[in-house]
Amino acid sequence: MRDEFYSRIDATLADLREQGLEKIERQITSPQGPEIEVNHNGKTVRVLNFCANNYLGLADHPEIVAAAKSTMDEYGFGMASVRFICGTTDLHRRVEKEIANFLGYEDSILFAACFDANGGVFEPLLGKEDAIISDALNHASIIDGVRLCKAKRYRFANSDMDDLRKQLEQANADGARTKLIVTDGVFSMDGYIAKLDKLCALADEFDALVMVDDCHATGFMGPHGEGAPAHCGVAKRVDILTGTLGKALGGGMGGYICATKEVVHLLRNRARPYLFSNALTPALLGATLKTLELVRDGDGLRKQLFRNAERFRAQMTEAGFDLLPGEHPIIPVMIYDARKAGEMAAALMEEGVYVTAFSFPVVPHDKARIRTQMCAAHTDEQVDKAVTAFIKAGKQVGVI
Ligand SMILES: *Cc1c(COP(=O)(O)O)cnc(C)c1O
Repeated sequence: MRDEFYSRIDATLADLREQGLEKIERQITSPQGPEIEVNHNGKTVRVLNFCANNYLGLADHPEIVAAAKSTMDEYGFGMASVRFICGTTDLHRRVEKEIANFLGYEDSILFAACFDANGGVFEPLLGKEDAIISDALNHASIIDGVRLCKAKRYRFANSDMDDLRKQLEQANADGARTKLIVTDGVFSMDGYIAKLDKLCALADEFDALVMVDDCHATGFMGPHGEGAPAHCGVAKRVDILTGTLGKALGGGMGGYICATKEVVHLLRNRARPYLFSNALTPALLGATLKTLELVRDGDGLRKQLFRNAERFRAQMTEAGFDLLPGEHPIIPVMIYDARKAGEMAAALMEEGVYVTAFSFPVVPHDKARIRTQMCAAHTDEQVDKAVTAFIKAGKQVGVI
């Protein structure tokens, strides 16, 4: 029986390999940044990085690193406790208050990751009398969180407001007590921004709550980095906002939920990934306080990020590449064929540009792409160098 188990594992791995879906992790030997050192075929090479979630370029910021170090000196390394036993420091509460304040909420609650925040948010707040109406392209962690909750599930086609209306009507017909509409603020495979203005108008019409997972927007979208709801002019209408410290906000780790202070207090009492998992480390929190300060003063970084996105978009379009339209610093270069997308990423690595090919099941069949992501720390020269590399690799692989 045990033999049968291990041979099944081998067969599954062989199957992944055969379908070209096996993920091999490259090893980086430098800090995360616009230019990194990676191990490539046994050699260390320096390459431009165009696939990190390091939108504001803060992952290796010297002031953040210094804040982490000095906090570690003051508070030590680990908490060795969940929050409610002896894992809450003044730093935890300061970070929670700062995040809530920045995003315009009464309070927030920290988790080890946004994956945990989304995994823990639904079950304590909704029961079997309630309805969750979820966008079809929502992040895996939302899908898992919804599964853990007893509420009835409804799914609407990605950003399709007619379908959302239909699902809301169905939830009403089914006698839902509370309806919660859930969406990503930005859909990460395409860089498309959710139609939050229209979504909130429908929520008003149907007296529904709104939850937004803003992992790919907080810190850089919106007038001062408050995210996709502010970008769409509906920041005040979003009841529950989840996000990550692992992307634009320094790229360390940790997640959070913003809501009213009562909702947050109930989550502290009932959210399982919070109750049964270790508290975040002090160094991370000290670094996050510095990060939030830099993000609040980050209009210059945001401007640079979108300038870089525009520069890349304009030159790549001019060169004949097929880009998904938009304004977000996620810029997918459509290749369509999965094998070609893989070849393209490999050819770009030879040209000193690190990007990743995405194919099924992460994106639909025949919609393979190179998902590029811009960073405020990229210089004009680095953006131009990436475009030159794309042109050379694109001709080699037969994409342009
Ligand atoms: C990255 C991401 C997450 C997970 O965040 P972690 O903090 O890395 O767990 C959740 N939702 C969305 C939309 C994301 O992009």
